[in-house]
Amino acid sequence: MSDVRNVIIIGSGPAGYTAAVYAARGDLKPLVFEGSVTAGGALMNTTDVENFPGFPDGIMGPDLMDNLRKQAERFGAELVTDDVTEVDLTVDPKVVKVGDETHLAKTVIVATGSGYRELGLPDEKRLSGRGVSWCATCDGFFFREQDIAVVGGGDTAMEEAIFLTKFARSVTVIHRRDQLRASKIMQDRAFANEKIKFLWDSEVTAIHGEDRVTGVTVRNTKSGEQSALEITGLFIAIGHDPRSELFAGQLETDTDGYLLVDAPSTRTKLPGVFACGDVVDHIYRQAITAAGTGCAAAIDAERWLQDRD
Ligand code: FAD
Repeated sequence: MSDVRNVIIIGSGPAGYTAAVYAARGDLKPLVFEGSVTAGGALMNTTDVENFPGFPDGIMGPDLMDNLRKQAERFGAELVTDDVTEVDLTVDPKVVKVGDETHLAKTVIVATGSGYRELGLPDEKRLSGRGVSWCATCDGFFFREQDIAVVGGGDTAMEEAIFLTKFARSVTVIHRRDQLRASKIMQDRAFANEKIKFLWDSEVTAIHGEDRVTGVTVRNTKSGEQSALEITGLFIAIGHDPRSELFAGQLETDTDGYLLVDAPSTRTKLPGVFACGDVVDHIYRQAITAAGTGCAAAIDAERWLQDRD
C-alpha cells in the first residue's frame, strides 16, 4: 500500500501526458500509468503529424509523444510503464491497482483513449501511416489527386469519403453489404458526389505495397470473386472502441461506451474523477483536442483538491 497521491493519471496519449505536464507544474506530483503495450498512445502508430500546432514542418508521431513524455518528466511527473488492472473510484481515497500493487489517490484522471477497429489483415499495421489510415482529417491532405478507398458503410465512413474528395482524384467506398448503414442524408450526399464510387458486397482481403500502399485485393462476398484495386491510400472507418471497460459499473458511459462528463468540464459523476481525450470524445478525435481536454482535466483536478483541502 502506498501513500495517498494527489492525482493518478491513467493513460499516456496526448491527453494523459498533457494532464501530467499541467498537474506536475501545479505541484501535484502526479503518478502516471502509461500502459505497457501502447505507451505513448495512438500516435506511436503513425508517421507524420502535420496538424499539431507548433510544428511548422510537421513531426513524427513517436517523436511528438517522446517530447510530451520528456516535458511531463521535466516537471516531476512520475511515469510508470504498466497497465492499470483494476480500480475502485467510488471510495475515498480512490484505489488504483496494477496487478498485486495497490495505489491510492485523492483524484484520478482517466485518459485511456480509444482503439480504432482494424481489418485484421497482415500488412495493415506495417503500412499504417504509409497509406493505411484511420483518420481523414489527419491524413487526407497527403492524398492530393490520388485514387484512394474508404472501408465502411456508416456515417463516419461517408463523412470521411466526402471529406477526402476535397483532395483525392477518386474515392472508392468498399462496403461488405449491398446497402449503407449511414443515415439517409449522409447517403444522399455521398451518392451525389461524382468523385465517390461504391464497391458493394466487397471486403478487402489483402493490402499491397513495400514502403507505401500500392493497392488492395477485394473479394466479392457473394460470388467469392477476387479483384485488384490500385490505390495509394486506404482509410479504415469501421468504428472505434473507447477503452472504458476498466470503469464499468463505476463511471457512466453512452451507448457506445464513451465516458460521460459534465462538459465543458472533465468532471465525471464521481467526485474527484475526471476523464479526457478520446475515451470521452467521439466527435473530434484529434491529438490537439485530446491534449486540450487533458489540460482541462488537470486544472479541474487541481481546483477540486483546492476546494476540498
Ligand atoms: P491515446 O493516444 O489512445 O492514448 C491512450 C493511452 O491510454 C495509451 O497510452 C494507453 O497505453 C493508455 N491506456 C489504456 N488503457 C490503459 C490501462 N488500463 N492502464 C494504463 N494505461 C492505459 N490525430 C491528430 O491530431 N493528427 C494526426 O496526424 C493523427 N494521426 C493519427 C494516426 C493514427 C494511425 C491514429 C490511430 C490516430 C491518429 N490521430 C491523429 C488521432 C490521435 O492519435 C488521437 O486523437 C489521440 O491520440 C487521442 O489521445 P488520447 O490521449 O485520448 O488517447
